[in-house]
Amino acid sequence: MTKRVNRPHIKRQPNPFVFVKEGDCLRCTSHRPNSKGRVQVNRKGKLFLVYRLLWEEQNGPIPAGKVLMHSCDNVWCHELSHLSVGTQLDNVRDSIAKGRQGPSHQGNPGPKHWNWKGGISQGYQIKMRKLRVSQG
Ligand SMILES: [Zn+2]
Repeated sequence: MTKRVNRPHIKRQPNPFVFVKEGDCLRCTSHRPNSKGRVQVNRKGKLFLVYRLLWEEQNGPIPAGKVLMHSCDNVWCHELSHLSVGTQLDNVRDSIAKGRQGPSHQGNPGPKHWNWKGGISQGYQIKMRKLRVSQG
């Protein structure tokens, strides 16, 4: 027997965003950044980058295939004047030019050592030949 509990959907009031000026940049202090330092929000079950939402609010939707690039190189920055639209390729080129590409894509070191079994089995089997003494 299962008891049905009517759980009214609790609508949580979204946290207001708090931004703090850090140098020329704006850091979001009210929301936890992801592992890459970008702050994301959940909208209709999807994660959106906050600086992207802010930018789109002002400038309209970002064209498909385009990304937002930080001129300041701070991925956590929400200062709209630091953001510009570019392609992913631009972004990669930009990051290489700025030396942002870390040594994360180094080649596979490959197998290091083979687990050789040192001893070569030298167990020769000596077959004893039965000498047949012929009597004759
Ligand atoms: Zn910035």
